[in-house]
Amino acid sequence: MKRTVARLADGRGILYFDSRDDAVRRLDDPRDLPAVSTESVLRWDAAVEEWVVVAGHRQGRTFQPPADQCPLCPSTPERPTEVPSDDYEVVVFENRFPSLSMDASLPDHPGVVLAEPSAVRPGTGRCEVVCFTPDHDASFASLAPQQVRTVMEAWIDRTLELRTLPGVVQVFPFENRGAEIGVTLAHPHGQIYAYPFVPPRTERLLAAERRHVEQTGRHLSDDILAAERADGRRIVAENDAWTAFVPAAARWPFEVHLYPRRRMPDLPALTDDEREAFGPIYVEVLRRLHRGGARQALRARSREASRFVEGMARSRGLDTAGFRGVSPALQARAAARWAAANDALAREAWNAPWTSRVPTDAPPPVNEVAALPPVPANEAGMRAVMDDACARFGITLRRGWAARLHGIMDASATAASTAMQHARAFLPGEGAP
Ligand SMILES: [Zn+2]
Repeated sequence: MKRTVARLADGRGILYFDSRDDAVRRLDDPRDLPAVSTESVLRWDAAVEEWVVVAGHRQGRTFQPPADQCPLCPSTPERPTEVPSDDYEVVVFENRFPSLSMDASLPDHPGVVLAEPSAVRPGTGRCEVVCFTPDHDASFASLAPQQVRTVMEAWIDRTLELRTLPGVVQVFPFENRGAEIGVTLAHPHGQIYAYPFVPPRTERLLAAERRHVEQTGRHLSDDILAAERADGRRIVAENDAWTAFVPAAARWPFEVHLYPRRRMPDLPALTDDEREAFGPIYVEVLRRLHRGGARQALRARSREASRFVEGMARSRGLDTAGFRGVSPALQARAAARWAAANDALAREAWNAPWTSRVPTDAPPPVNEVAALPPVPANEAGMRAVMDDACARFGITLRRGWAARLHGIMDASATAASTAMQHARAFLPGEGAP
């Protein structure tokens, strides 16, 4: 393992972790960067007795840049990024827009209602970014176990260093993935927060563990793991050093906890064998979550589209009893064009962009559809439904195929479903003549 330390143009630290000892990384950063702004404060929320980090300066941070402007990809001669090297395995650097910083100080006007001096503190701590692949389109689940081992070594290195910073009481490596949870950069990356307070969930975990030891003489985490392994129903994956299971009181549709078999205080306490055994099981769990998540998203979109078509058909007085829905495969492709197609339609119909009338990515407006005047003749009605559905879901029928599609539809709503299945053939690049 090779560890290379350098500084970025604005003075932030950057560390490369390489599995090969002969890896050479570029150390100088040619960019001209302004100094990092650190206006973070901690405010005490007296209502629930929790610290809250308020970091107003982060509003200007890079938000969802296009792939060719990605600040986490390796640098090229034309475009320097946050990572000066032209390649990397794992690289960790201080966040340019940190929520917590060792340079944080109290603002002149702390702006809290409670006048107690303890109600506001500087947002002291550290926020680091962990890039674990130079591949913009990869994910943690796509890493080889050996790459995960390098990430693990980076986490351990950072834990050992960050916990020595004055005032830091918890070091927390994590990965947020997906725009749904607020990720602002698509390039796969994790973060490490060095907190100046114990976050609420950790505090409760520790308190529960302490109480359990007092009452039983045993450790709670040992007992939970033993109970899950004895029961076995919720075990997702296991190897000699780790057990992955769905907790009995899971809070999320997909939630898996990964416990080391041996109780330990922190990541640096993992043995060599335990570090080695982590990659295969973590990646296995992530891959299974991805498959589950993708299936669920497809099902949801499919239901959404089915409701839409059904609502349209019903609003036109058609029999929807036999309607079986739109296939997920068709939906997956159609949904990708959803926004663009809506925008084109909106410009045509309203002479204004879609977003000017529809505030969010709302699901198909079934109510609006239901208000359409009913078409009495079933054949004509189904044809209109089909046309509307194709337009809504961004399906472009190639010339000549629209007539053939209408031709295979009969007067029942079941045909709409069949027709939508057939519409797959009309998606560009798929089976069309
Ligand atoms: Zn990237």
